[in-house]
Amino acid sequence: MAVQTMCATKTQNIDATVKQIEMLKKAGAALVRLAVDSKADVEALKQIRPQTDANLVVDLQENYGLIKDLAPYVQKVRYNPGHLHHRHPEISPRDKVKLMIDVAKDNDLALRIGVNFGSLGPNAGAGMDQMQIALSSAYEHCDYMEQFDFASYVVSLKSSDPQSVININTEFAKQRPQVPLHLGVTEAGMLPDAEIKSRMAFEKLLAQGIGDTIRVSIAIADSEKDSEVIIGKQIVDDVNAGRFTDFRSFKDYGTGINVIACPSCSRVENGKFVQLAGLVREAVEEFKGRRLTIAVMGCRVNGPGETDHADFGMWCAPTFVNLKKGTNLIGQFGYGEVVEKLLDEIRKDNL
Ligand code: SF4
Repeated sequence: MAVQTMCATKTQNIDATVKQIEMLKKAGAALVRLAVDSKADVEALKQIRPQTDANLVVDLQENYGLIKDLAPYVQKVRYNPGHLHHRHPEISPRDKVKLMIDVAKDNDLALRIGVNFGSLGPNAGAGMDQMQIALSSAYEHCDYMEQFDFASYVVSLKSSDPQSVININTEFAKQRPQVPLHLGVTEAGMLPDAEIKSRMAFEKLLAQGIGDTIRVSIAIADSEKDSEVIIGKQIVDDVNAGRFTDFRSFKDYGTGINVIACPSCSRVENGKFVQLAGLVREAVEEFKGRRLTIAVMGCRVNGPGETDHADFGMWCAPTFVNLKKGTNLIGQFGYGEVVEKLLDEIRKDNL
């Protein structure tokens, strides 16, 4: 069971990224993921590679073609099927995947098909819910792997809701038992919620033999990022030893205030994000007793999609924060004023 995580530093901040990779490796991370979105990120990766012997995974979003440049420097590439539709719409997702598979074969890389409920592609058929769309996307991409005769791949199916993570991974494992699964509750928020949500999903799945790698996502300061690995390893050890959390005391968990927050990464638009997520969690305590989901996201990658499904959402831009109610944009506010605006909107909503 490989415990993995992702750097929250800017990939182009080479010293900080190398330092964080080493911290994560020392904590026991079997794989460390980095975001690469541009040629400048690839150049940074080239300089990072000789400074660490950690197994590196690159997280590609829209810029799938970068795989050709970065392949010699990493062991694995994660792509998100939902983001393959954005660039070069004249090229089919199947052809984009073929390009990635060809590069992966030539460079002995593994691939991860990383499906995320917050950024699903246009796989929706009439009446399909998020789980069905996500599964259809995963099956489609597994089929591409088989058509192009590529076996070194793993699938992840992530949601911010632990029960959805259990349901979708159980179903996938039933349909495609031969495909390895990477497990994660994405945007699990801050501690202790992030650990509770991860344990809810992982303990259940791992105990059934579902899952080959895991990541615990925590919105936490860069200097404490190794907590993701330490907690992940603890969960694996507990399951191996037959120690399971008694979730009876959490029976109402998720029925009150639920703050979803991404763990942040190189793409985070403003370094104030983690602080903002903490301020939101403290501030919304005044609504204790109400049933509210508030999503706080670090950038535009999963920000717009994940906030669509929350009662209120915030997603960060470099100098302002987009504040939403459901799918509607309320406005764009400075980092210093947005929490008060959120509270005003929630109070109004209670009238
Ligand atoms: S939402 Fe953006 S900043 Fe947050 S983890 Fe995802 S890609 Fe990184």
